[in-house]
Amino acid sequence: MKRTTRGDIPLLADGRFVKSAAREFVPVLNPATQEVLARAPMTEAKEIDRAVAGAEAAFAEWRRTPLSARMRLMLDFQRLLKENMERLAQSVSEDNGKTLEDARGDVFRGIEVVEHACSLPTLLMGETAENVARGVDAYSIRQPLGVCAGICPFNFPAMIPLWMFPLAAACGNTFVLKPSEQTPLAAMLIAELFLKAGAPPGVLQIVHGGKEQVNMLLAHPKIKAVSFVGSAPVAQHIYREGCRNLKRVQALAGAKNHMVILPDANREQTVSALVGASCGAAGQRCMAISVAIFVGASKKWIPDVARAMAKARPGIWSDKNASFGPVISKAAREKILRLIEEGKAEGAKCLLDGSRCKVKGHPNGNWVGPTLFAGAKTNMSIYREEIFGPVLVAMEAQNYEKALAIVNANPYGNGVSLFTSSGAAARDFQSRADVGQVGINVPIPVPLPFFSFTGWRGSFYGDLHVYGKQAAQFFTETKTVTARWFAPGSEARANMTIRLK
Ligand code: NAD
Repeated sequence: MKRTTRGDIPLLADGRFVKSAAREFVPVLNPATQEVLARAPMTEAKEIDRAVAGAEAAFAEWRRTPLSARMRLMLDFQRLLKENMERLAQSVSEDNGKTLEDARGDVFRGIEVVEHACSLPTLLMGETAENVARGVDAYSIRQPLGVCAGICPFNFPAMIPLWMFPLAAACGNTFVLKPSEQTPLAAMLIAELFLKAGAPPGVLQIVHGGKEQVNMLLAHPKIKAVSFVGSAPVAQHIYREGCRNLKRVQALAGAKNHMVILPDANREQTVSALVGASCGAAGQRCMAISVAIFVGASKKWIPDVARAMAKARPGIWSDKNASFGPVISKAAREKILRLIEEGKAEGAKCLLDGSRCKVKGHPNGNWVGPTLFAGAKTNMSIYREEIFGPVLVAMEAQNYEKALAIVNANPYGNGVSLFTSSGAAARDFQSRADVGQVGINVPIPVPLPFFSFTGWRGSFYGDLHVYGKQAAQFFTETKTVTARWFAPGSEARANMTIRLK
């Protein structure tokens, strides 16, 4: 099979990896060295049309493929993903920069979704009611939509493509995937494995590109539904544009996740959780903790957090001792450094400053070291903006109610956590925090795929979330059938006729 992750990355069209006719390519860089790993084509409009037409043609047969056959494809796909875990993790590390251990987690989280897709048939079952009128039964069936599209961010190059197309395909749809142009390598390997597992040509098509190609997908009349994961401004654009074009849209957006620390929490657990949740993956997780609200006396732990964070150090993905990798691009690093300077200028106290971080032997990497601010206020840009780097913003609140009010006034609502030993506080918090995913003594409360991934407010646009039951609903239409099986009064005769035959 043609190598899909070096040189000019191919498109996946009707079961074959083909060279794109694109006139423009963007380099895919190793963020620790700036080495050009490959080039992603900015797919031409006619190639996008062909991808959608191929997916539409494949849909006719794929929707008729028995559920059990679709499920078996997912079982084989899951086995191949597991067998190729190391290869996949390495490709995630290469273009994203995350440590190998982190990359394994990225792949594993995606595999869990494929495992869930194996049990999808039960989620596609309809409901039946007999005798809704005399001699009339009613029932609902779930049917696939047709061609769906997925648009991915850079930060989980394996997991997020796997959030999208396996569930859509298991529901009987065909899918056009656009990986992030910054981190497309893992998606190509995943596609190879999907074909090897037996996916028919056209069930998964891959196109590459950026804004322009996304807009072509959003405008394409044959695409029925769009699943997007990325930053808040782009998510708003995708939701508006997709809805304007009368498509079904789910758009998972940016975040500003808080951890509230009560004085009765376990100090060591809290400090260690804060370091991992803020610096892990260089802070480039949509569920990373970027704000810590210390309530009352817990503020005396802030220096402990600074000491523990100072021990975390970045490095290249193959460095076993590195706590995290570089940030994705020079532009991302510049944005983070700008926000660090703004934080200082606005009066927050920078207890740990990672802006001048260097990694020996890798002078060109997009390095940012662990950074901690204390005394931050809600009007500061380090509090308002998503930094998406290894930067933790510490604030203080006099009491629990004031901390909760800060969480609920923030425009985002992806994840939040409370550290406490009080069951009463925990129960109150899980009920009153206006955020989709709540952790109690769990810093990054990402649900397993049999629950939904449920950002709220500015972190999500749409109504049905990814994963599980809601994904099955997103990728299918409900059809209700009301059936009068026989002409009124003729049941007895009809039955007799059958018997006579
Ligand atoms: P991004 O919004 O820059 O890009 C996401 C995708 O949109 C890419 O495929 C890109 O090509 C495309 N795109 C970029 N600009 C566009 C435009 N103007 N019009 C149309 N398409 C455009 O996001 P990113 O930097 O790749 O990813 C990081 C962001 O994703 C962070 O904000 C993070 O919080 C968010 N994220 C959210 C979740 C979640 O579950 N809520 C999960 C992962 C990442």
